[in-house]
Amino acid sequence: MKEYEIVIIGVGPAGLQAAIHSARRKHKVLLLGKLESSALYHAHIENYFGFREKVQGQELLLAGLDAAKKFGADFIEEDVVKIEILEQGDFKLETEKGTVIRTKALILALGVKKKKKIFKNEDSFIGKGISYCVDCDAWFYKNKRVAVIGDGSAALHGAMTLSKFASKVYLIFLKELDDIIEELKNSPIELIFQKPVEILGEEEVRGLRFEGDLVIEVDGIFIELGAKGPLELLAPLGIELDPETFSYVKVDKKMQTNISGIFACGDLTGPPLQLAKAVGEGCIAGISASDYIKSLQKASK
Ligand SMILES: Cc1cc2nc3c(=O)[nH]c(=O)nc-3n(C[C@H](O)[C@H](O)[C@H](O)COP(=O)(O)OP(=O)(O)OC[C@H]3O[C@@H](n4cnc5c(N)ncnc54)[C@H](O)[C@@H]3O)c2cc1C
Repeated sequence: MKEYEIVIIGVGPAGLQAAIHSARRKHKVLLLGKLESSALYHAHIENYFGFREKVQGQELLLAGLDAAKKFGADFIEEDVVKIEILEQGDFKLETEKGTVIRTKALILALGVKKKKKIFKNEDSFIGKGISYCVDCDAWFYKNKRVAVIGDGSAALHGAMTLSKFASKVYLIFLKELDDIIEELKNSPIELIFQKPVEILGEEEVRGLRFEGDLVIEVDGIFIELGAKGPLELLAPLGIELDPETFSYVKVDKKMQTNISGIFACGDLTGPPLQLAKAVGEGCIAGISASDYIKSLQKASK
């Protein structure tokens, strides 16, 4: 198990700025996440302080990561699939590749997950067999047949979770990856690499039709693209959300959430969804997490 004082989930501008501030204060800091999943990666920025010309988001992210590493932050390019609060108030994290990490403070800089539609008739089945959250809805599919559609760690782990409840789990992977095939070799999950084109059913989901002639009968379809969505990852922790939208994490002026030792910043805490806000909040979260660690150290003396 790897141990850190501060772990930051997310390597967008909020997470990177948090890492720069906390690592510069000489803490043992780890960054987790993927640069290319940041909203900034494909953006061209014109409204950010300090640049006369349009600047590419990717360039800013690479420079930010270099700076965080220069100040001593470690970086593991993996998605987090599970967060637990331990009895002592520490946090335990598990990544998509099974790396287990323990930390005293956690900074959430997960951005927002954009819901991508796969099917034209998807919206009409929401709540009638279409779900975007395995951890929220798996229980409803006890002894039923389900399909998980995805392209990354969320789909793989969603399928594994569902295999504990459902009588049959199909994993429909939108891209072919050797390590996924290897990981599922001895599992009861059936992999399908064909492109799904239509949800079947009248009132409720009854099946899926693929390109070609393949049809499978299922009672539920989980759409899990990319990494685990912030709200799905945070739901088991009891993190308080903004009471008006239930889409963003509620924080105070120090970027502290309702759980001691957990801070949040950037798009995850709500609009404006802008680079300048993400960087500003990342700075505050990095400093607040550092102060929190120092207060723990003082109390233990
Ligand atoms: C096309 C486009 C154009 C834009 N143009 C502008 C602009 O001109 N000006 C402006 O100010 N803003 C612009 N923005 C918005 C800006 O990019 C965002 O506000 C900013 O990137 C938010 O930063 P963030 O760090 O909060 O989140 P993000 O940059 O989205 O980073 C989120 C991070 O969390 C990680 N993550 C998510 N889930 C997990 C998980 N389970 N495990 C591990 N890591 C995880 C991701 O890998 C990623 O690294 C634009 C955005 C887009 C999409």
